Amino acid sequence: MTLDPVADLRPQVISRSADRIDCDIAIIGSGMGGGSLAYALRDSGADVVIIEQGDFLPAERENWSVQAVHTDGRYKNSAAWHDEVAGRDFVPGNYHYVGGSTKLYGATLPRFREWDFGAVEHIDGLSPAWPITYHDLERFYGEAERMFWVHSNKGEDPTDPWRSTDYPFPGIPHEGAMARLVDSARAQGLRPFAAPQSINWQPGGGCVLCETCDSFACMVDAKGDADVAAVRPALRSGHVRLMTNARVDRLHTDNTGRRVTEASIEQSGRQVSVRAQRFVLACGAVNTAALLLRSASDKHPTGLANSSDQVGRNYMAHVTTFFLAIDPRQKNQAVYQKTIGINDWYGTGPDNRYPLGNVQGLGKLRGPQAKRGKPWIPMTILDEATKYTLDLFIQSEDLPLPESRVIVKPNDQISLTRVATNMRTHEELVKKMKRVVRRAGFPVVLTQNLGVEATSHQCGTATMGSDPHASVVDADLKAHDLDNLWIADSSTFVSSAAVNPALTVAALSLRLGASGQLTA
Ligand SMILES: Cc1cc2nc3c(=O)[nH]c(=O)nc-3n(C[C@H](O)[C@H](O)[C@H](O)COP(=O)(O)OP(=O)(O)OC[C@H]3O[C@@H](n4cnc5c(N)ncnc54)[C@H](O)[C@@H]3O)c2cc1C
Repeated sequence: MTLDPVADLRPQVISRSADRIDCDIAIIGSGMGGGSLAYALRDSGADVVIIEQGDFLPAERENWSVQAVHTDGRYKNSAAWHDEVAGRDFVPGNYHYVGGSTKLYGATLPRFREWDFGAVEHIDGLSPAWPITYHDLERFYGEAERMFWVHSNKGEDPTDPWRSTDYPFPGIPHEGAMARLVDSARAQGLRPFAAPQSINWQPGGGCVLCETCDSFACMVDAKGDADVAAVRPALRSGHVRLMTNARVDRLHTDNTGRRVTEASIEQSGRQVSVRAQRFVLACGAVNTAALLLRSASDKHPTGLANSSDQVGRNYMAHVTTFFLAIDPRQKNQAVYQKTIGINDWYGTGPDNRYPLGNVQGLGKLRGPQAKRGKPWIPMTILDEATKYTLDLFIQSEDLPLPESRVIVKPNDQISLTRVATNMRTHEELVKKMKRVVRRAGFPVVLTQNLGVEATSHQCGTATMGSDPHASVVDADLKAHDLDNLWIADSSTFVSSAAVNPALTVAALSLRLGASGQLTA
């Protein structure tokens, strides 16, 4: 059985369009970046059309089935990408739905640290400075936290940047083995904090703090994803329309090469086009780069907006490890486990010369999820073993290298080359956490480093900068090479920092919407 979660919004949804649609602003992609921008523009008076490759993710029982989601891959709908280094294809966890990857995200929404916008020295090189500062984004971070119902406690995270507004909602209480870890970590001198979670968990909200949140879609629309919290409110304004099942294949320019005039789209097997005064790309870092590269023409022979040869380069995705701590004597009773954050080694400190990164709770793992990493272990054993695991996610900053890049192969397939950086500091962080959990009473630790297939925190393929020879967009997110093309997704990130990216994507979009550039 499926429900139509957006029956009331159908008049604004174009599921089968005329051959040509005209509008003021075309936003390509409805995820965190595109959705938040549409939200910001909803009452601007402009006629906005969002063009989205996917459809609404259906509300159905399988949303919360670990078997359907993780064993059968029911919602995986990306084309296979190629891992250039390993020489093999894989289907990434990159999602084409209204709301983009946020439909299945873990909803942890931290701000970048203030110093993340400056140059930071890492063990493998320099994390470069952004052309904007934390100050430029602060107000929009606050706005995004309110939009996405972020819960946390001000003052708990020692690295949290200054804020002009408090978190809209208090932190989610720790439970089960997570509460044990928090108590022990405090006794060990650390400062664990309530991870900033984007869920509708307040009186009247629908969140029941279930275990099927991180990497699942929310059947009751109580996760702050970009569909629920941004796109639907934008459609409700009546000034924003949404094309679904509409994949933009290429962008065309006028004879000067300075203005994008049209997007060619395949919608449910038909060729249609959208003409707009202004275009905004928000396809996610990998697909935005691919679309620019696919839009090469006489005027832009190496790809649209690519006179710098930077499109597709500087691909980053964090250095990441799944970390399972096990106390074989006691089951972990936690259901909603994504409540902890530890940033004690985020920056440099007395016992680490270089920044190490961030530790946070993972959604409660169960057998079928663990099976991917340990396929040879029978499911019955994994099912039983995961009742005892305390599951954490460890991430370190990834550095932007020109050779880490997205290309589109002659057969049109997306290919990724990723050169690992900061592995030594990442391993140091994993080692420190092993010590912490052992002291907390979890003697067994299993880890799995996630390689190139971990694309969920993808960023940096069309970076922001003031030098048109070394970056793709300017500090206002406008493409250097074009007069009416902007980018509003994680591809503009200059560095990855070591915290989750989506709140920064949203804040950048809200800033772009408020800047007046798109409506002037
Ligand atoms: C399992 C998982 C867990 C995650 N957990 C977290 C978390 O806890 N916290 C966090 O901050 N981040 C998390 N992320 C990452 C987060 O979802 C992304 O950072 C965020 O969605 C990026 O926003 P975006 O706008 O750049 O791209 P997306 O949100 O992915 O949106 C891109 C959209 O563009 C559409 N599109 C692509 N190409 C085309 C085309 N050619 N034509 C038309 N439409 C197109 C796509 O269908 C998609 O809807 C997670 C991701 C995954 C997969």
